[in-house]
Amino acid sequence: MESNGKKALLIIDMLNDFVSQNGALVVPDAKKIVPNINRELKKARKNNIPLIYLCDSHDERDSEFQCWPKHAVKNSWGSQVVDELAPQDKDYVIFKRRYSGFFATELDLLLREINIETLIITGTVTNICVYFTAVDAYMRGYKIIIPRDCVIALNKDDQEIALKQLQQLCSAQIV
Ligand code: ZN
Repeated sequence: MESNGKKALLIIDMLNDFVSQNGALVVPDAKKIVPNINRELKKARKNNIPLIYLCDSHDERDSEFQCWPKHAVKNSWGSQVVDELAPQDKDYVIFKRRYSGFFATELDLLLREINIETLIITGTVTNICVYFTAVDAYMRGYKIIIPRDCVIALNKDDQEIALKQLQQLCSAQIV
């Protein structure tokens, strides 16, 4: 198979508010993908693939709360990565305020600094933060791999449509 260049694993919004019981904005099946992401995480650590966590982190007054209930408020329990997938010291953690992990963050600069060409994208929500981050990655020339069992949407239709769009329009490899 053709080389995809140097890879990084992105773990998007696997935060208590989206995944854990009593979270503010729980995605019903998000818990089911935790072991699958853990599998990718272990594989990445073993192969020295950098791990980059992209985490929603909002000020109490964030304008996103006009569209969504309050969630992932900075420094709250809800804004923390779930224990099972907790970042280690050498991992990168990037905070974001919008759907795309590239918007108003240092993600692109970091990826260039560590010479990443391909992003393995995991996390929530397939048709929201995963989707917009993948689209922005494509616009910037990154290759995209999405393990199907490592992303989740609020329902099956959203999941399938988003993955189909990314496959057809952004050359994402859905594996
Ligand atoms: Zn948010």
